[in-house]
Amino acid sequence: MLKVYIQTDLEGVAGFCFFENRKNPNFENVQHRQRMYRLLTNEVNAAVKAAFDSGADEVIVNDNHGSGYNIIFEDLDPRCRIIHGRNGSGPCWLNLLDSSFAALVLVGAHAMGATPCAITPHSLWKVNDGDIYMSEASMAAAVAADCGVPTVFISGDDKVTSEVSAKIAGIEVVEVKQSLSPYMACSLIPARACELIYQGVCRGIQRRAQIAPYKIPGPVTLTLLDSEDHCLPFTELCPPQTCDSITEAFYKCEDAMPWDCRNTTLPDGYVFPLI
Ligand SMILES: [Zn+2]
Repeated sequence: MLKVYIQTDLEGVAGFCFFENRKNPNFENVQHRQRMYRLLTNEVNAAVKAAFDSGADEVIVNDNHGSGYNIIFEDLDPRCRIIHGRNGSGPCWLNLLDSSFAALVLVGAHAMGATPCAITPHSLWKVNDGDIYMSEASMAAAVAADCGVPTVFISGDDKVTSEVSAKIAGIEVVEVKQSLSPYMACSLIPARACELIYQGVCRGIQRRAQIAPYKIPGPVTLTLLDSEDHCLPFTELCPPQTCDSITEAFYKCEDAMPWDCRNTTLPDGYVFPLI
């Protein structure tokens, strides 16, 4: 039984250059969001097909950007399943991932906060006293490693792919765009990006035994940093968390985030805010 988990984000997709504004209902903005969702869906579909063509029996996609409900799932390969809904209403990171999975695949990843000339860089974890700094992508790889799962593929801009390939020896990488500023990039055309993602995911799954899980040994002190509008200066979003494993420290940081209500008892009739 070969199981593959695909963690997705939007900012690292070919053609994505700036955030959508969820509060702006004008036609141009709505149309832009739809286009970005379409581009994301196509890249994810390329990865799903690659996983099945490489022998996967089960593929789970996690729609993890922003609201958690971006992928046009009715257009995905019907052999996969998708985790989506409203992020913040439950555990949204790597939900259902466990040691039964053979590989983690990252599609649409973006650079960590404070990375110069990266497309919409945000989220930054400091490990211990700054021995390592991690993006959402490398953090996903580290959490998966605590389950013994190797991260075999990443696609995104040149900044996140170079960060992650420096940390994970042998990972398959597809650079879908070269970032030129936080909001400008030299991008592959989506059809080409999908072709390369398909090939890269096939290679990554085939070579999974040669790619070690990205294990961060415990105990670990983790500090979550971010900033207003993703610009400097960066501040601590919660106090540093020291735990036996990076997974425990990660979830303690997540629990401290203001938008997370996983451990809250909600009143009857509460409606989750659209984020
Ligand atoms: Zn995102």
